[in-house]
Amino acid sequence: MKKYLIAILLLLFVLTLGGCAAEESGGTQQGQRTADNSGNEEQESVQESKEDPTVDVSKEEQEDLQKEDETSKEQEKSKKNKKKSEKEKKDSAQKKAAKPALNPDTVVYAEEEVVTTATVNVRKAPSTDSEVYQAVPRRSSFTRTADDGTWSAVKVGDQEYFIASEYLQLASEVTDNGHLVVIDAGHQAQGNSEQEPIGPGASETKAKVASGTSGCVTGLNEYELTLQVSLKLQAELEARGYQVIMVRTSHDVNISNSERAAVANNAGADAFIRVHANGADDSSEHGILTICPTSANPYMGNLYNECRSLSECVLDGAVNATGANKKYIWETDSMSGINWCTVPVTIVEMGFMTNPTEDQNMADGGYQQQLAQGMADGLDAYFGD
Ligand SMILES: [Zn+2]
Repeated sequence: MKKYLIAILLLLFVLTLGGCAAEESGGTQQGQRTADNSGNEEQESVQESKEDPTVDVSKEEQEDLQKEDETSKEQEKSKKNKKKSEKEKKDSAQKKAAKPALNPDTVVYAEEEVVTTATVNVRKAPSTDSEVYQAVPRRSSFTRTADDGTWSAVKVGDQEYFIASEYLQLASEVTDNGHLVVIDAGHQAQGNSEQEPIGPGASETKAKVASGTSGCVTGLNEYELTLQVSLKLQAELEARGYQVIMVRTSHDVNISNSERAAVANNAGADAFIRVHANGADDSSEHGILTICPTSANPYMGNLYNECRSLSECVLDGAVNATGANKKYIWETDSMSGINWCTVPVTIVEMGFMTNPTEDQNMADGGYQQQLAQGMADGLDAYFGD
């Protein structure tokens, strides 16, 4: 009898537990459904991309019912994320597939002759993502057929290609003499002793920018003098019809010598003039010299003849204009700012800041103007104008 009683009690106990368990699991399911509902917005947008959303809904509903623990909830979540990222992928693929076109709201159709103002890419579609048909040098001529302000359509044969509008100029508005000169005012307010290779592929390194010398009497810093003269050279060249690009127009910059060369290279400069002043232990040393690579320069020796000619012309021009002592052309392959060049380059050492007379001369605005005019004469001679 006792045994029966115990058995009945046990049975009741188990039934009660079972009921509780059922309630708990029901509660869990409710909870899960609410959580899923709160994520409905996401889910709906996921389903939009499906061909037959109803299939997915009923499937999910079934899954909902089957869910019994946190694990399946997590699985559902990661499934959802997967679906979402698949949708994103699909969207971006669709975007890529859509061919870029000129902006219909701003495009103006007019046939006109244009020239490129820099080395630019001619693309198959008006987008920087699009394939480059070819890169063309500055001063390349095209017939433009349309311009939306950002991209211009140009004709090459009977094909249509695209060039960024900012690099095109109306041929009728070109007033300069056709020569682009890049001027690098040597040094900057703070030198940069971090190292960079002295040329493409070189294992030897040098400081990115040395701090330069200074006037023994005037106290003028080389970076100040070089910018003063460079700005005068810019004005002189522009007055003579040159197009000029300045590597720097302020002192507070951080541009390494190889980066300075890159400015000239990227612009497709016809000549790159690097303006410096000299210093020596012997204060009697004075005069102007220019620097060019040797004919055996391993990085850009193919430009030796142009660099040599440019260096001769600029040295003669500066000496003739100022009456300063003519030193020589120094051929060396130790200058990073020359070795990285893919365009004709010279360094002008305008005089010795360690020589009292020359220091004071170079600090004088009138003498600086003579230096600028002399260098411009040298460029005229180099280009044969
Ligand atoms: Zn210098």
